[in-house]
Amino acid sequence: MNIQHLTYRFPVRVRRNQHACLEAALEEERLMYNKALEILRAHHDETGEVLGRKELFPRLTRIRKDDPERREHAQRLQRGAFDRARVAFENAVNRNRKTGKVGYPRFKGANRARTFGVIDREGWSIKGNRLRCKGVKPVEFREIRELPPDVRSWTMTRRDGRWTLAVVVAVECSDTPAEGPPVGIDMGVIDQIATSDGARIKAPCEKKIDAEIAEAQRKWDRIVEKDGKGKPKKASMKTARARKERRRINRLIKKRANRRRDHAHKVAKKLALNHELIVLEKLLIANMTRSAKGTKENPGTNAAAKRGLNKSMLRASLSRLKALLEYKCRLHGSRLVEVDPKNTSRECHECGHVAKENRRRKKFRCLSCGHEDDADVNAARNILRKGRGSPEDTGLRSGGSETAAPPTLGQHCK
Ligand SMILES: [Zn+2]
Repeated sequence: MNIQHLTYRFPVRVRRNQHACLEAALEEERLMYNKALEILRAHHDETGEVLGRKELFPRLTRIRKDDPERREHAQRLQRGAFDRARVAFENAVNRNRKTGKVGYPRFKGANRARTFGVIDREGWSIKGNRLRCKGVKPVEFREIRELPPDVRSWTMTRRDGRWTLAVVVAVECSDTPAEGPPVGIDMGVIDQIATSDGARIKAPCEKKIDAEIAEAQRKWDRIVEKDGKGKPKKASMKTARARKERRRINRLIKKRANRRRDHAHKVAKKLALNHELIVLEKLLIANMTRSAKGTKENPGTNAAAKRGLNKSMLRASLSRLKALLEYKCRLHGSRLVEVDPKNTSRECHECGHVAKENRRRKKFRCLSCGHEDDADVNAARNILRKGRGSPEDTGLRSGGSETAAPPTLGQHCK
């Protein structure tokens, strides 16, 4: 039996009498996070090793013993803070090792803590839409989707004045293979997908929300004062009005991102449910490092920069879709295969003739056999054919756990 960890997010209804205790929990998170960093850093400086949970948590017990004020707060949540610091520190050390640089997580300054929560299943409960945990008043969340019974941990996050509850749940993967014909996918224009069965999936239009963001941005520009160089003055950014407007802009940007993500989830789910094999083009590393700005010897023109931007956005949507498909395919028992995209947009699907001239913008017309098709659909069909013949297509289901992701928060549904 295969288990997959997923993160579900729920908006939280915060009651007026609840604000103070949530703020207090954040402040305690901050203090404990910093305390843990201090301990980790000292130990690392001395021994060159990162303390594990087993060594770190007894330190917390000692701190609570010595300081009655700490005992007033829930140990569950303090352990969460300690563990978040440990993970951040461990990541930094690994990064240092890789890059040869030296950097450590920063101590959190006033109001810098955003998240608090638990790391395991003890000492709290969720019933209906209510979370109970020692240290905070019962949290009521909006049940925008059904919550599976096996909840492993949770965190509460405040962002731009709003609270969200993120819950890690364990879900069983389907052990019957998915049904439905194999499909190839071509990422044509930004966020527009063509499939080998001739369908096109378009991303939702963002014109309206883009305009709203631009409008809010202009308003913010009017509110803040600028210095001689046109940079906003720090003091004027901290006024209540400027802060309020900034929050509004952030919320709009978040809304747009949420919509995009929601769309990507829906597309991925539909694909994973309806096809036993899904073939994607591989992200090529060579393309990823190419800078849009060009080099000193070979400066990029404006057009090249724009093309670079489009490319990077295309890569972003492709990698996002891939990440979603990876776990959804595991969940629903379908297979995901990646192929080298070389020539897939130039090759005729009917006769195999490869020529750049076969493709004219959105139309594909083979110079050799005269076959005509939508250019992206033709590419998707080639991608599918490559995927079917590839060595990766061994008939093994991706239900295996060889690449199963660890249960970290925010991995799948940011
Ligand atoms: Zn042809």
